[in-house]
Amino acid sequence: CTAFTKTNNNNALGYGYGYGYGYGYDKNKVSSTEQGDEVSGSSSNSKKLKIGIIGFGNFGQFMAKTMVKHGHTVLAYSRSDYSRAAHTIGVRYFSDPDDLCEEHPEVILLCTSILSTERVLRSLPLHRLRRSTLVADVLSVKEFPRSLFLQLLPSDFDILCTHPMFGPDSGKAGWGGLPFVFDKVRVGSQPERLTRVEAFLDIFRDAGCRMVEMSCAEHDRHAAGSQFITHMMGRVLEKLALEDTPINTKGYESLLNLVDNTARDSFELFYGLFLYNKNAMEQLDRMHWAFETVKQQLSGYLHVLVRKQLMLETSSGNDNNNTNNINISSGDNINNKDTNNKLMLPSPGISSAKIVPPVQEKEKHDLVMLNGSKR
Ligand code: NAP
Repeated sequence: CTAFTKTNNNNALGYGYGYGYGYGYDKNKVSSTEQGDEVSGSSSNSKKLKIGIIGFGNFGQFMAKTMVKHGHTVLAYSRSDYSRAAHTIGVRYFSDPDDLCEEHPEVILLCTSILSTERVLRSLPLHRLRRSTLVADVLSVKEFPRSLFLQLLPSDFDILCTHPMFGPDSGKAGWGGLPFVFDKVRVGSQPERLTRVEAFLDIFRDAGCRMVEMSCAEHDRHAAGSQFITHMMGRVLEKLALEDTPINTKGYESLLNLVDNTARDSFELFYGLFLYNKNAMEQLDRMHWAFETVKQQLSGYLHVLVRKQLMLETSSGNDNNNTNNINISSGDNINNKDTNNKLMLPSPGISSAKIVPPVQEKEKHDLVMLNGSKR
């Protein structure tokens, strides 16, 4: 019978680090990592683990490099044949998941795409693993793997949900100071289980990551408002095919970098961020609302400008006792050629509808005559 501990905390992303140390851990090492110090690869005294990575694509290989560097034994399995890449990194590659599981890795780390995770997990020969195996994941959404694991994994397995919030691009110069989110969803209370989960987390602590312990639900709320928006903006800007110019500002350079960074991730990853985070749709709606609001703000200013021009024309007409005087309220003579030439009306490409403020706004203003009709 296994007793489980559930770490409960309400840390916000980026604030506070609920380390929850178990057995045999040096407090001094915690403060070193808290300060974001980079610790060289093999300096950790943590227990060395045998880690089986499932999904050995872009991110799986990226994880493996640091794990090998830290002295852990890494095995890998993927749908495609990555035996050469594995050999280069120093990883034992398996083309059959049964063979990998029969090696009894202490940790199984799922690095599969969000969309394929359920299928992959269901197809794994879990019965070949040790009963107390620790299963972890790196998916960029967290509530989904959490509930999948609780549903599909034997109750003896420990569960650790993680999200290294960096990738092969942003983390290529080292992981120092980069956020690593984790939730100890289910960890048995026996010392060896606590030691094992901490040894796994030490890989990231020792690399200098900013460790953020947070519930999966909280992660998804924060990630939809930050990561999904980042990817969404990158994808939208990519559609504009922005070009390098001889007069790039720093702001523009950062936009180009954003496009570059997000475009390198697979579309499947982006789609997963949207489909498997229940908060993403709300953020998409908010982005749409924000775009429309700013657009209407601009149109609103244009509207005021046009109205001012009309008023000026009207008052100067009055002063001069001009017979071609514009009557704003009735719109008489709005098509008068002399008057029209003086108005700063939008170019023909911009339809008059675009400079009309939204319904609520419109009610607040006087009616303005444009192109001879009431708007
Ligand atoms: P990805 O496109 O999200 O996932 C690629 C991986 O999924 C490959 O290992 C691929 O295996 C496997 N896969 C895809 N479809 C599959 C299927 N139908 N059956 C079996 N395996 C399948 O790209 P990624 O960047 O490598 O990301 C992997 C995971 O890391 C994702 O869950 C992502 O959310 C997470 N993550 C990524 C980053 C990042 O910066 N890229 C950062 C943090 C977390 P094969 O290559 O063998 O086909």
